[in-house]
Amino acid sequence: MAGGELRVTDLCSGYGSVTVLHDITFACEPGEVVGITGANGAGKSTLLNTIAGLIGMSGGQVELDDLDLAGRPVHQRVRSGLALVPEGRQVIGALSVRQNLDVTVMARGRSRLDAEHRRRLETVLALFPRLRDRIGVGASSLSGGEQQMLAISRALMTGPRVLMLDEPSQGLAANVVDVVIEALQALRGSITLVLVEQNLDVLDALGCRSLQMSLGRLL
Ligand code: ATP
Repeated sequence: MAGGELRVTDLCSGYGSVTVLHDITFACEPGEVVGITGANGAGKSTLLNTIAGLIGMSGGQVELDDLDLAGRPVHQRVRSGLALVPEGRQVIGALSVRQNLDVTVMARGRSRLDAEHRRRLETVLALFPRLRDRIGVGASSLSGGEQQMLAISRALMTGPRVLMLDEPSQGLAANVVDVVIEALQALRGSITLVLVEQNLDVLDALGCRSLQMSLGRLL
């Protein structure tokens, strides 16, 4: 598996009557690793959230392997193979690590844990052995690094062909950033990765092609 092709064309979106993204056009080849950089407020999170379907687009196109995602809700985009690790992780604090991962079975349209779910669980726990040690612990008790590992694992449980990550190294100690980098290096080639990242060392370590944003536009 080489990941999916993501194609964004003339994308516009914003909040209410305020347009934040202006005519964004770029494409990621299957298996490519693409970094998006830019100052605070440039529109990086808005871009990932619009591609994910969390923010409505006011113009343009988003395609995943020739499937037009315009107008499709978030859960359909996830089922099509597009996953987002949001800024700030947003794991469910009241649930354990295992429960946070188990709820993803619903993203596959299943209500019961099945063999495919257990296979995916083993894959993410092999990627982040630390989570296996913490499997019964409430997510709110995890360190920031463990929460980021859980957030990435939760997205991977949906079996994405394109994985978008919003500032995965934000607020993490250097040794934990290394763990995240190693995991993304392991995924490299099998999943298309799109990272918003201020830490250029992370983008360098992954050998990203970098795109720069300013004031809602790609430079
Ligand atoms: P940061 O690195 O600080 O997260 P960013 O590049 O991700 O910055 P966005 O968070 O996408 O930038 O913000 C782009 C613009 O959209 C900014 O002007 C911001 O104030 C505005 N914005 C972001 N979220 C909202 C919102 N919920 N409602 C209105 N405007 C918003």
